[in-house]
Amino acid sequence: MKYDRILLKLSGESLMGERQYGIDNNRVLQYAHDIKSVVDAGIQVAIVVGGGNIFRGLSAEKSGMERAQADYMGMLATVINCMALQSALEGIGVDTRLQSAIKMEQICEPYIRRRAMAHLESGKVVIFGAGTGNPYFTTDTAASLRAIEIKADVVLKGTRVDGIYTADPEKDPSATRYDEVTFQEVYAKGLNVMDMTAFTLCQENNLPIIVFDMNREGNFMKIAQGEPVGTIVK
Ligand code: UDP
Repeated sequence: MKYDRILLKLSGESLMGERQYGIDNNRVLQYAHDIKSVVDAGIQVAIVVGGGNIFRGLSAEKSGMERAQADYMGMLATVINCMALQSALEGIGVDTRLQSAIKMEQICEPYIRRRAMAHLESGKVVIFGAGTGNPYFTTDTAASLRAIEIKADVVLKGTRVDGIYTADPEKDPSATRYDEVTFQEVYAKGLNVMDMTAFTLCQENNLPIIVFDMNREGNFMKIAQGEPVGTIVK
C-alpha cells in the first residue's frame, strides 16, 4: 500500500447521487463499501464531509441571510451528512468515530486531535463534522487543515469528475486531463482544485492532493494502492 493514513474529502453534493437535494442512501452505501475495502487493507482513513447538498452559507447570504449565521447552518448540514455516512459504515461493520468542530455531545465527540489520531491508530474511521467550526471557511479547508493536523500522507478529493482538466470539461470538449500537476502550475493556470485557503495550506505543508472520481467503484482502493487514478497535485 502506498499510503498509511489518508484524509478523504467528500462533498455534500456527491452524497446526493442523482437526486437534486439531500442524501441518496445507495450512494452513501457505495462509498461505505469503498471505504471499508481500504480500511480492511490496513490503511487509516479519516473523512471530511461537506454540506452543499443541504445548505450553503454563500447561497443563503445571497438571498439575504447574515453570512455568519448561514455558515453555521452550513456546518450543521455537514454533521447530518456525516451521521448518514457513519450509519452506513457501521451498518457494514466498520468501526467509526464522529468528531465535530462544534460540540454536539449527544451525537458525537468534540474534535480532539490526539484522540482522533488514537482512533485512527486503532483502525477506526474518523469522520470530521462541522468543517473547521468557523464561518467564512469551507470543508475543503477543513480537509486540508485536519489532514495536516493528523499528519495524513495525502488529501483525496472525491468528486464527480475524474481529475483536473486544462479547462472545464463540461464546457470545453477539447479539455484534457492532467495526470500530475505542480502547485505552481495550478496557481499560474488558475486551475480549479480547491478554494485558495485550502489549496495554500496544502502547498505550504507539502501535502499532496489527489482529485479523482469517487463514483467509480474501486477507485479509492486503486489510489490507496498507488495506481495513477485522477490527478495528483504535488
Ligand atoms: N462551512 C463553514 N465553515 C467551514 C466549513 C463549512 O462555514 O469550516 C459552511 C459554509 O456555509 C458552506 C457549508 O458549511 O457553504 C457547507 O460546506 P461546503 O460548501 O464546503 O460543502 P461542500 O461544497 O463540500 O458540499
